[in-house]
Amino acid sequence: MATIISGKELSAELKAEMARQVAEFPAEYGRVPHLAVILVGDNPASVSYVTGKAKAAAEVGIRNTTIRRPADIAEAELLALIAELNADAAVDGILVQLPLPKHIDENKVIAAIDKSKDVDGFHPLNVASLWQKQPCVLPCTPKGIMKMLERAGVEVAGKRAVVIGRSNIVGLPVAKLLLDANATVTIAHSRTANLAEVTRGAEILVVAIGRPKFVTADMVAEGAVVIDVGVNRDPESGKLCGDVDFAAVEPKASVLTPVPGGVGPMTITCLMENTIECFLAKAERR
Ligand code: NAP
Repeated sequence: MATIISGKELSAELKAEMARQVAEFPAEYGRVPHLAVILVGDNPASVSYVTGKAKAAAEVGIRNTTIRRPADIAEAELLALIAELNADAAVDGILVQLPLPKHIDENKVIAAIDKSKDVDGFHPLNVASLWQKQPCVLPCTPKGIMKMLERAGVEVAGKRAVVIGRSNIVGLPVAKLLLDANATVTIAHSRTANLAEVTRGAEILVVAIGRPKFVTADMVAEGAVVIDVGVNRDPESGKLCGDVDFAAVEPKASVLTPVPGGVGPMTITCLMENTIECFLAKAERR
């Protein structure tokens, strides 16, 4: 049976540590870190993510401002809001909740955020720094995954890692972090031939595709470490589920992450960590 890594528990511990750290900031720096979150429209999933971020910020003692704008906001107006936040010395982190309405160019919006306030780690200069092994703000979900592997005592160096999914926010950056940790990495995707054969070769399998219970027991090697990033609705039960068929894979894997309560909470926790890092980097530049 697999050891289950609870992202919820690990997050609670990390947030408690950060809360102790942030409590010292007013005496040392005169204020606490400030995260500005922009929510465009009222997509229920986005509203719920933004609410989760505000709740985590409150737990850690980070100041959070959620700025809501209507779904029909003009792109220029959104860019002007970002420019205002970039220039505001009292704002340390800026996050624009994605996805944005179709009439807005997401890449343009992400690139408009000051690199040093890009707490999501999506800015092209942060991405470039990641791929050049330069100091940067790491994207939250991949960072959280690496922390979970560390917590579970998984030795990454020398292992065969397979990542299913090649998105900019999860698949590609987590593959890079695994590579930096000296795994031998394969990135699989929707055009991968004989996917099950590829995934059966994985000692560490990270799944980020967005398909409920897609990874079945026959796709997983005995003793593999399996990280499930997916957040889906189970079409049968209507409940949240991952990309991995948890019940079927659990007896085979050595380590497994649950959904919910796995990678999701770690993503939000790493956002808090990134906000603190941006705050401290700014304090040092003064
Ligand atoms: P995405 O941008 O839609 O990318 C999905 C990737 O999966 C693509 O690279 C795609 O391949 C691949 N894929 C799709 N169907 C496949 C198949 N049948 N076989 C093999 N590969 C397949 O998704 P994402 O943003 O990376 O998110 C993935 C999942 O993680 C979603 O469920 C999302 O909700 C979840 N997520 C969770 C968190 C968290 O904090 N827990 C954070 C971010 C995302 P192609 O490139 O060939 O199309």
